[in-house]
Amino acid sequence: MSSVIRLVTEIPGPKSREVAARREAATPRGVAASSGIALTHADNAVVTDVDGNQLIDFAGGIGVLNTGHRHPDIVEAVRGQLDHLTHACFAVSSYEPYVALAERLNRITPGQHEKRTLFVNTGAEAIENAVKIARYATGRPGIVCFEHAFHGRTNLAMALTAKVMPYKKGFGPLAPEIYRVPFPYCYRCDSAPSRAGLHPPLQGAASGCCQSSPAYWSRIFGGLVDPSQVAAIVMELQLGEGGFIPAPPDAVAAIVEFARRHGVVFIADEIQTGFGRTGQMFASEHYDLVPDIIVTAKSLAGGLPLAAVTGRAELMDAVHPGGLGGTYGGNPLACAAALAVLDVMERECLPERARGVGRTIRTRFEALQSRHSAIGDVRGLGAMVAMELVQDPQTREPDPALTKRIQANALERGLLILITGTYNNVVRVLVPLTVEDAVLEEGLDTLEQAVAAACGPGPGR
Ligand code: PMP
Repeated sequence: MSSVIRLVTEIPGPKSREVAARREAATPRGVAASSGIALTHADNAVVTDVDGNQLIDFAGGIGVLNTGHRHPDIVEAVRGQLDHLTHACFAVSSYEPYVALAERLNRITPGQHEKRTLFVNTGAEAIENAVKIARYATGRPGIVCFEHAFHGRTNLAMALTAKVMPYKKGFGPLAPEIYRVPFPYCYRCDSAPSRAGLHPPLQGAASGCCQSSPAYWSRIFGGLVDPSQVAAIVMELQLGEGGFIPAPPDAVAAIVEFARRHGVVFIADEIQTGFGRTGQMFASEHYDLVPDIIVTAKSLAGGLPLAAVTGRAELMDAVHPGGLGGTYGGNPLACAAALAVLDVMERECLPERARGVGRTIRTRFEALQSRHSAIGDVRGLGAMVAMELVQDPQTREPDPALTKRIQANALERGLLILITGTYNNVVRVLVPLTVEDAVLEEGLDTLEQAVAAACGPGPGR
């Protein structure tokens, strides 16, 4: 089989470096890029840069491309919409693609109850609106979020986000009435007797997580905020930017039970976990969870900017007319793209495909882990898989420098890959779920070489 990676210059090549220099002069350094390359073209899981180099894409535009770059059905849907209507503003006039997409999300998100969906442009905006709705419906101010969480960069979403650098440093004052509780990060839990093998695939198994008892959560919330003043709990069921950490099911059950008991709205942030990534259409399904509000974005519209807030009708309709909206939210092109994305997801059985892709990645990562002691943990749901790099598997001291070397080695060899985690020491995979088997294997071969080059070949080699 011929390889799809084709490198005709060093990475980044001269033309990419030229664009990078112009970028530096014309755009603020705050918008930093992890690769120095400039792209001109992309197909499914393969991207081409301005120098003509062809690379494999395990970054997927940070989880936006579960259906791959420029899926032909999605391109056709957007082209078709271009010929009819590109903007109206839903606050001025209705248009059918917005309504059809809302109906579709109301149908496919967990729970058979009556729902409503609001469209906005970005994940952060959707989170802000979910919080606005929960506060309005409950008449309460407090919002509970988690350590290691990421919910966006706008003011309220930033306050809900955990990591200080680079997301919060210097940007205060932060929004008030935010209460942060521990996320069950079992690999780094002090009471775990042994760290190895703590992450069997969830499959409903009780994890024995020390944060799983109702008493634990009563204690945590009791010492933090009066539950009757809490509007919502906002949770990623598998952390995205926080290090690809799936929450143990029994801990989620205890948190949800706490929310229900106190009339707190449970908001699932499925912006990164949504649309097949975890091996179910939504991560909530792994937990038999019906969130009161589910927030989606990223892979919803296959690359066009679109985000959604889907929730119980009585919550969503609590807000007065004109209290929600925006100029561009639910743009017709983005809605047409999203309707095509959902068709592709169903027709190509992408949640099921994610389970296969995930098994392949996990098997390769576990084999790598047996050779390299720096790989402290391999974890994740479906195709949302990651490896955590440590200086020593006993102390679990994070190794961000090694992680960065692996990323640089991969790029040099023609593979785009992303780092995540509070300690910048987790390599994550967000490859399109539509990736061809051979391309996936070549990408994993390349990653394996990148790890070996960064760690040394390891024992048994
Ligand atoms: N929530 C989660 C879980 C995310 O992963 C992200 C983006 N990485 C966001 C919210 C924010 O989305 P956006 O960048 O579209 O504002």
